[in-house]
Amino acid sequence: MASKSEILIVGGGVAGLALATRLGKSLGRHGKARITLVDKSFSHVWKPMLHCFAAGTVLNENDRISFISQASSHHFEFWPGEVVSVDRDKREVVLSPLHASDGTKVLESRTLTYDAIVLAVGSCANDFGTPGVKENCLFIDNLIEANAFNEKFRMEILKSFANSSQLDIAIVGGGATGTQLAAELHKSLEIVDPVSLHAFGKKPPKLRVTLLQSGPRILPAFPESVSVAAQQELERLGVNVCTSSRVASADATGFTLKDGTHVNATLRVWAAGVKAPDVTKAYGGLSLNKSGQILVKPNLSSVDDDRIFAMGDCSFITDEPLPATAQVARQQAHHLAQHLPAWLEHGKNVPSCIFHNKGAIVALGNYNGWAALPGGTVLGGGIMHGLSARLGHIMLYRKHQIELFGYYRGLASILADWIEGIIRPPVRLD
Ligand SMILES: Cc1cc2nc3c(=O)[nH]c(=O)nc-3n(C[C@H](O)[C@H](O)[C@H](O)COP(=O)(O)OP(=O)(O)OC[C@H]3O[C@@H](n4cnc5c(N)ncnc54)[C@H](O)[C@@H]3O)c2cc1C
Repeated sequence: MASKSEILIVGGGVAGLALATRLGKSLGRHGKARITLVDKSFSHVWKPMLHCFAAGTVLNENDRISFISQASSHHFEFWPGEVVSVDRDKREVVLSPLHASDGTKVLESRTLTYDAIVLAVGSCANDFGTPGVKENCLFIDNLIEANAFNEKFRMEILKSFANSSQLDIAIVGGGATGTQLAAELHKSLEIVDPVSLHAFGKKPPKLRVTLLQSGPRILPAFPESVSVAAQQELERLGVNVCTSSRVASADATGFTLKDGTHVNATLRVWAAGVKAPDVTKAYGGLSLNKSGQILVKPNLSSVDDDRIFAMGDCSFITDEPLPATAQVARQQAHHLAQHLPAWLEHGKNVPSCIFHNKGAIVALGNYNGWAALPGGTVLGGGIMHGLSARLGHIMLYRKHQIELFGYYRGLASILADWIEGIIRPPVRLD
């Protein structure tokens, strides 16, 4: 082993940035190892908030964390780029050339070496090859896509204002993403209501959101009582919830279901399924499941190579598969942060990562929310309008910010968001 070990982390999302920050503090700071983070983007966002960015109910300027700034204050290196191949014999990864937005080449293809590599490239929605989806649907798997959706949403609302017409949006996928997005879109228009009376002399157009779920109930990962209550809440808002509705194809006018029904939609969102980014196929021939996720042992090392680890949404534990959630990603990052140093320094085995289920939270905008705790208890809903569950959802994000920034900067950032909320409109208008 080289005197200074090199740990390469690919993907700075919920799992990757937490790991880089922790290893930077424990190893990088004392010169014990060189920690390098590679991400195809320049900044980190808390992915569970993407539906809020898409609806414009949370502005994303303050909610991005610059990788360069985080690296410089937490003793790790950062390189922008996309890992396009891994040579396991030479222990090298190749980064694709980096281009500016106008297409100019900024950086040539680069090669980085490693003693250990941790893959944390996340996931994206899975269209299961459904005809027409790629060409006709919007996705909200990253900040660029969430912003692109928001731009289209605002423009379509403007068109509906001008034509006094209804705006039809169809969302495929009744999991947490689709369900929360449906509620957040209603919240967005509700906020625009008083603004629009002054700005356009009109109330906002009618919004008709249809939520298409192939299974018999929405939020299948939650207890049935939450699915029922969430469906009632969405229907109260005016969302058309269609369960047992499998999509056969998409086109520029909407979706066609397997039973032949056509659902008209000006904006079509695909928020169903989970698969790893296609690039995992280029990672040195590692074994993958059919969704492209890297097969790992319970200690998160690849089943093919003990020097390659994978965590978060892009990984799949063969013995005991876990859901693709932020909670799993964070716990796996903490596990590797704790055990990788001893593995590198003293050759101690990385033990199995035991997942502790702390429950799941879903928040339907400001309207309602539920927390399903281990043991079957459900909190939220009812006359409190799910305040505890909605606060829980916000707290998860704030905890993540404090973990990355440290206590004082984390609190300052919460304060900045609060002040920003007083200055700026509560919904994105431009
Ligand atoms: C709208 C929405 C709402 C959600 N709500 C919840 C929720 O309420 N609760 C919950 O627990 N989970 C929720 N999730 C799921 C949760 O966000 C993910 O499980 C979690 O982000 C996974 O973390 P990760 O680190 O594996 O991947 P991510 O956080 O997705 O990070 C992946 C990183 O890899 C980078 N990357 C990708 N490809 C490459 C490449 N080729 N080269 C270099 N870098 C690359 C990306 O830029 C990104 O920074 C939600 C997801 C969505 C989309």
